[in-house]
Amino acid sequence: MPKFLNNKFFRCLPIFLFLNSTILPVKSSSALAAWVLKNNGVLELRTKSNTNLKAYFQRANQINGDRFWIDFPGELKNPRTIKGNGPIKEIRLGKPNKGNTRLVIEFRDNNYLTPLTWRIIGLDQNRWKIKLFTPKYSFKSIGEGLVERSVGNIKTNQNLSYGDNRANNAYLRLPNVKRNNFLVVIDPGHGGPDPGAIGIGGLRETDVVLEVAKRVGDLLSEKGVKVRLTRKKEIDLDLPPRVAFANKTNADIFVSIHANASVGKRSDINGLETFYFRGYKGKLLAKRIQKQILRVSPGSPDRGVKQGRFYVIKKTRMPAVLVEIGFLTGRLDARRLEKAPHRKRIAYAIAKGILEYLAKVG
Ligand SMILES: [Zn+2]
Repeated sequence: MPKFLNNKFFRCLPIFLFLNSTILPVKSSSALAAWVLKNNGVLELRTKSNTNLKAYFQRANQINGDRFWIDFPGELKNPRTIKGNGPIKEIRLGKPNKGNTRLVIEFRDNNYLTPLTWRIIGLDQNRWKIKLFTPKYSFKSIGEGLVERSVGNIKTNQNLSYGDNRANNAYLRLPNVKRNNFLVVIDPGHGGPDPGAIGIGGLRETDVVLEVAKRVGDLLSEKGVKVRLTRKKEIDLDLPPRVAFANKTNADIFVSIHANASVGKRSDINGLETFYFRGYKGKLLAKRIQKQILRVSPGSPDRGVKQGRFYVIKKTRMPAVLVEIGFLTGRLDARRLEKAPHRKRIAYAIAKGILEYLAKVG
């Protein structure tokens, strides 16, 4: 088993195959929130957390073509059939029995699917994917961002990505905190003439962390948290002014965002880590953030929550952490961090960790 399969947020599940509708349950999370069958033959799902999914496959018979289906707990209000294209005859969302929702994908052909190789992969606690086929001919994605939307509004052939805001609203819920009650200083590392780490393909730490930091700020602002960034563009900013800024604003917390580089630029070194310098609160904040960033980075090693003597977390007076969102020199992390959807997921994760902390410690 490759190492990344051991990550506790990465689940790899078998599919139940039958010869006669034998049914084998797959463990997963709750009701179906969003789905898309992408034009590369990958089905992506979003569910509520802690859902149990069950997946099945049945070969064609006289009445139906090859069928793949997944059952989700929770009933759908509006059963429906969505016309397919290419190899897909149709997709049905229904109520197979009380309390369940079933997503059925019915294929036209019955001779090219290889269900023995299928695996449902849990990307985190509410996102799943499975590669069902390799399209031989052009095929348009089919999907729904909001499964519970009324029948009249079903959008088909819509491409979803994890960065899609409409889809995000359906299933991603950031914790609520008391509005206008908190001030958070976000510190994007480096800047200007100091690019920080330079990674694979010339990926620069300063660019990556500035984008992530801005997005964290936007997400927190939407939740009614006041946010100040130590820098908003590529400027040269030394460490003491960052600290002075945070101390002067009397922020509740300080979060410095960085990306790592390994000595010798080793591509096999990847992972995430979060540092704090002092205090129970600092450690708690670090733990919350670390937990969330790991969730969106399946397979990337957990380098842990550690005490670190970095200037910006040592000299700031409020609970302060420094988060390293991956190795720009690591093959796994760099491939992710170079992509905007992953940077959005990391920002979301950091915001979630911060909000969980504020909700708890407040
Ligand atoms: Zn850095």
